[in-house]
Amino acid sequence: MTANHNRACFSLELRDVTHHYGRHLAINQIEIFLKKQNILCLLGPSGCGKSTVLRLIAGLEKLQQGEMYIEGHLVANSHISIKAESRGVGLVFQDYVLFPHLTVAQNIAFGLGKLAQKMRQERVEYFLDIFHLHDCGHLYPHTLSGGQQQRVALARALAPQPKLLLLDEAFSSLDVRLRSYVREQTLEVIRKLQTTVIMVSHDPIEAMEMADEIAIMRAGRIIQIDSPYQIYHNPKSEFVAEFFGETSSVITVCHNGMAESYWGHIPVPNEFHHVNQVKLMIRAEAFYQTDDASLGVRARIHDVRDLGRMVKVHLSIDELPEPYFFYAVLTEPVYQPKDAYIRIAVDPKRVVVFPIG
Ligand code: ADP
Repeated sequence: MTANHNRACFSLELRDVTHHYGRHLAINQIEIFLKKQNILCLLGPSGCGKSTVLRLIAGLEKLQQGEMYIEGHLVANSHISIKAESRGVGLVFQDYVLFPHLTVAQNIAFGLGKLAQKMRQERVEYFLDIFHLHDCGHLYPHTLSGGQQQRVALARALAPQPKLLLLDEAFSSLDVRLRSYVREQTLEVIRKLQTTVIMVSHDPIEAMEMADEIAIMRAGRIIQIDSPYQIYHNPKSEFVAEFFGETSSVITVCHNGMAESYWGHIPVPNEFHHVNQVKLMIRAEAFYQTDDASLGVRARIHDVRDLGRMVKVHLSIDELPEPYFFYAVLTEPVYQPKDAYIRIAVDPKRVVVFPIG
């Protein structure tokens, strides 16, 4: 196959993309190859460059270095820049800016000027329907709830059938319950329409729920791009491991493929069998309560927070030379008071191992 044929498998290809704002390096040699109908989530702390990547793809920022292809066609390099409106990209921001003087139906029809009247009307009806907005077509945006307005914004972006849909923190301004509802609905529509999506989020749960692939960004770089499963279970760095919630660390010796810690023997991945020392990063949800005296260690309770579905407990192990404090997220209730002891063990499958030295 020629390079062009390969290129055509991807909805989006970014090569060596670097971007400065003045002297500030915001994006540093990013590469993305996004397959058709996939959802990629750029995930990372505030200021790491997520929105800049979306702005470059949308054509709202001029590409300074690198190359960008959409469905195999070059849309930008340091000399060429196809106009934003000709890239076939739909964009939805956190602040869904609807046209206040247009009705919901007119907002959705906005990008459909090229279609004949009848087809335009059918397309609007279809999008009102799939976003459960049947009764809202004649209403003006200010009369709608936040969740409805966001669904209109999504319908407006999807109605022209973009090659790529870009979602920039599109759900963050909604309250928790509504956020999860709009997210589910959006996912359903995206799957139905087989749309390729790049979304930006700082919320690991949102990324895990929606994305086929997650790209973890840090200081302008993508440091790992993988499936949600791989990102969670096989993070390539401590930064990625820590992004998915609290962890506690133990440095320990390693013999015959086993890390020997007070939590018991933890298997070490084959590739690290040659090292003598490893760092174990234990996720808060890796801990569980046990009555089995042959398992785990005795831990003292400092604080118990009931989170409904789970309990977050601040614990310490007193029997070590230096007291060791950690958080555990447990699925079973904790009835014991502060300063009582409970027995805590670790599920080795939820421990991430990094070599030392
Ligand atoms: P994120 O979306 O991950 O929060 P951004 O892409 O918005 O990050 O920003 C990346 C970096 O570039 C940040 O340090 C931010 O302050 C800076 N930045 C973003 N936009 C501009 C701009 N228009 N002018 C100057 N600096 C900017």
